Amino acid sequence: MFLTPSGPWFSISEFNIQAYCEVQLKYRWSGIVRVTPSMVLGTKAHKQIENKFVEDTKDLEEVSIEQALELAKQGISTVARELPITSPTFRLNGIIDQIEITPNGIIILDDKPSEYAHYGSQVQLYLYAIAFKDRYRPDLDIQVRIRHRDSGDTVWEDMLTEEIHNEIMERLQRMVELALGQREFEPTQNPKKCEKCTYREMCKTNL
Ligand code: SF4
Repeated sequence: MFLTPSGPWFSISEFNIQAYCEVQLKYRWSGIVRVTPSMVLGTKAHKQIENKFVEDTKDLEEVSIEQALELAKQGISTVARELPITSPTFRLNGIIDQIEITPNGIIILDDKPSEYAHYGSQVQLYLYAIAFKDRYRPDLDIQVRIRHRDSGDTVWEDMLTEEIHNEIMERLQRMVELALGQREFEPTQNPKKCEKCTYREMCKTNL
C-alpha cells in the first residue's frame, strides 16, 4: 500500500491478506514481511508454468491488449501471462497470472495450489477483473477462474456482475479506511487461521 496526497494505492494481493486476517495486513503494512517455505515453492511453481507458456507460445506474434480486443471483434482469440494491470480509478495495481481474450468474452485466471477457492482468492480475482475493465473498457463480459496450479483443473469460476462490483467496492472502501487509520484492524475469529499464521508468535490477538 502506498499513500499519496489524494489517497492510498493498493496491491490487489493485499485484499487476499485482508480477507484472511486484517491484523496480518497491519503487520505487512508496518514492514514485517514473512517468507514461508510454501511461498518459495509457490514462486518456483509459478515460474515453471510461465516458462512452459513462453516455450509453447514462442512462435506466436505479440500484440498489445488494445490489439487483442480488436482481434476478438474479428473472431480471433489471444492469451497472455503475467500481465501487469493498473486501475487509475480505483487505485489498484496487480499482475494477472493469465488472461484470455476471446470473441465470446474475457477469462482471467489465477493459479493456486489449493483444491478450495478461498474467499480472499475470489476477491483477488474480482479485483483483477474490475481493474482490467476500468483500464481497458472492453465490450466483453469478464469471467474469473481459479485453476489448480498442479493439475490445471478449474477449482472455481464466476462472472463479474454489477452486484459483485458493488460488493467489492465496499471492501475497497474498508481498505481505504484501514490505510487512513479511520478503522481498527479486526483479527480473524477462526483459530485454524492463527494455527497456520507466520505472525502468531508476535500477535497479541492469536486465538
Ligand atoms: S495469529 Fe491470528 S489474529 Fe494474529 S495475525 Fe495471525 S491470523 Fe491474525
